Amino acid sequence: MSAPHNDPAAARAFAADVVDRLRAAGHETYWAGGCVRDELLGRVPADYDVATAAPPHIVRDVFGQRRTLAVGAAFGVITVLGPRGAGQVEVATFRADRDYTDGRHPAGVTFCSAREDAQRRDFTINGLFLDPRTGAVHDFVGGREDLARGIVRCIGVPALRFGEDHLRMLRAVRFTAFFGFTLDRESRQALERMVHLAGTVSPERIAAELRAMASRAGRGRALELLEETGLARELLPEVAPAHEVDRNCWREAAGIVAALDGSDLPMTLAILGEQAPDDALPRIAARLRLSNRETTQTLGIRAGVAALCRGDDPAARPWSQVQPWVARDDAPLLADVLRARAAVGRGSPEVAAWFTAQTTRPRVEVDPPPLLSGSDLLAAGVPAGRDVGAALQRIRALQLDGAISTREQAIARALAGRGRQPGG
Ligand code: ATP
Ligand code: MG
Repeated sequence: MSAPHNDPAAARAFAADVVDRLRAAGHETYWAGGCVRDELLGRVPADYDVATAAPPHIVRDVFGQRRTLAVGAAFGVITVLGPRGAGQVEVATFRADRDYTDGRHPAGVTFCSAREDAQRRDFTINGLFLDPRTGAVHDFVGGREDLARGIVRCIGVPALRFGEDHLRMLRAVRFTAFFGFTLDRESRQALERMVHLAGTVSPERIAAELRAMASRAGRGRALELLEETGLARELLPEVAPAHEVDRNCWREAAGIVAALDGSDLPMTLAILGEQAPDDALPRIAARLRLSNRETTQTLGIRAGVAALCRGDDPAARPWSQVQPWVARDDAPLLADVLRARAAVGRGSPEVAAWFTAQTTRPRVEVDPPPLLSGSDLLAAGVPAGRDVGAALQRIRALQLDGAISTREQAIARALAGRGRQPGG
């Protein structure tokens, strides 16, 4: 899930070059894991992982201290930095993970053969090795067949594998949904029995998985799987359906998310939390340690939907009441949500179309510079304090609604309006 590199062709060439150089130094080496899966599916891998028999210090010798990072050396992982635009490649020494004790980290690693290295990987489709020069695939886990049949299956005994690392439950859902695959029956049964452990995964890792699910293909399916398996109730209890009757609501939300033009975690949470109590989304955002920006977007989109879909036609309201929604940075996302809701029959297509049109108007028209600032009001004699903020708001509304258009009018209104109730 690392960041995409700048140039796919350069990244690929570099990743093949890394294999060549380790081989030339006498070490069995392959591409491994997700990049092999993606290659075989005809997709461009997001990043390349190399697996090798060479121990970490040899990997550093081959590529030099300056072109390598040893951050993951304790787990046998050396990062090799590519030339400009080629990104970087993680080179991992074939390893077996020693006992997991906490559902998160192996107690240590032992270096081993490629065959054994495959066994520590999560799913058969992620357990393949590829020789990038010849195209030869080394499959010790039946991954090729599962890839062809579209099955996500744990390597080994599912309950043990999910028990070692609880994050794998989320990864299972993510890969199943993204590739449009089926989750193998035994793996799914184990997952459903073990969902209660999912909450022990660190919030950052949960959020990263949810971000990946929410922003990619298959996102509607990912939401359905989260709900069907019981993961939603563990990870997002504030918005997950507690009763059978509420499940339709979640499914409808999944349909809306699937209908979005572009999607991310804030949009997804805003849609899931539409009917939930007001404190539901703030609690989720805090627990998952979402960024301030993500939190603001999540709450803003939910509030925007509520404000624009409350029944009366927003186009008929005073412009000053709807303008704040149009002027927001994330207004295009809100428009997307309104359109997706309308597409599944929730909310009015006319409102969605109207709001979308507003978001494409020129910025100066939608959000003209204010006629005056707080310091202008102080200079005009409005005493410092709450009055200033209230007056500014009142004047802004008058400006947006076309009732005033000059500084002088604004000052006159500010002074005339003093002492009245806010909003009066
Ligand atoms: P993505 O497309 O999200 O990058 P990926 O399969 O490449 O998918 P990574 O997180 O990049 O996933 O991991 C690379 C490989 O490392 C995986 O394909 C898998 O073989 C192994 N792996 C990653 N995470 C785990 C895990 N939690 N348990 C076991 N193996 C894992
Ligand atoms: Mg990867």
